[in-house]
Formats: sequence, structure tokens, C-alpha cells
Amino acid sequence: MTKKRRYNILKNVKINSIMNSHEQLVHFLFKRICEILKVADLNFKIMQRKGSKSNKSYTLGYINLKTRTICLDIYTPKTMKPKSFNGLIRTVCHEIAHLQKMPYKQFHRGRWITRQHYPQFYKQVDRNINKIKKDGVLGLHFR
Ligand SMILES: [Zn+2]
Repeated sequence: MTKKRRYNILKNVKINSIMNSHEQLVHFLFKRICEILKVADLNFKIMQRKGSKSNKSYTLGYINLKTRTICLDIYTPKTMKPKSFNGLIRTVCHEIAHLQKMPYKQFHRGRWITRQHYPQFYKQVDRNINKIKKDGVLGLHFR
């Protein structure tokens, strides 16, 4: 085995171990947020990025309201570094708010539209975030 190849293997092992611990921390984070916000029976998935670096349309996360599954993108789009807990917590609070303040249909300018992000919804997001800030564990990692 060449020196260079050996180095690359070590580097990959190191990157993998960092990624695994990030994923574990995110799972812990998600569980804790659900406890604080008192939402039960919520499924969690980590987004598998298939697109290339040039893929500009990317989402932070989304929720499937039928299956009650939140899918979260936990790495930065270009460099694939672990995203900050701060941003991840905010995204989860936003997605959970979709369950608490459901989308509704509205007749608008001659057609039916679905309102997802409306004032009451954003108030719910703020309420969720304020609860996290008061938590003894997550509040420490949260501005
Ligand atoms: Zn949304």
C-alpha cells in the first residue's frame, strides 16, 4: 500500500466518523424538539442528496403531512459540511408548525390556492422557537 493511498483511507474513515456523529446528534436534536413541543408520532428522515453541486433549487427540509414525516437536509449544499444546530432547529420548528397550523384552501383572484405560510403560521413558528430557547439542553446551543 502506498503512503498516499493509506492517507486517503484514513481521511475517509475520519470523515465518515464525523458524519455519523452529526447524524446521531441530529436524531437526538429532533427527538428533543418533539418532546419540548409535545408532538408525538412524528417520523424523521435525513435527506439523501442526489443532485450535483450546481443544483441551485434546494430545500432545507419538508414535511409530508399525510405520513407525518419530516425530512431534513443536514449538510451544507456546496461543501457538504454539517449544518449548524441553530439552523437545523429553526427548520424543524418551521416544519412542525405546518402540523400545528395546517395549510388551507382559499379562493383568491378567481381560483383556489393553498395557503401554507400565513401570519398565524409564522406566529406558531416563533412560539416553537421560544420554547426551544427556554429548554435547558437545546437552549444552550441556540441563539
Ligand atoms: Zn413551510
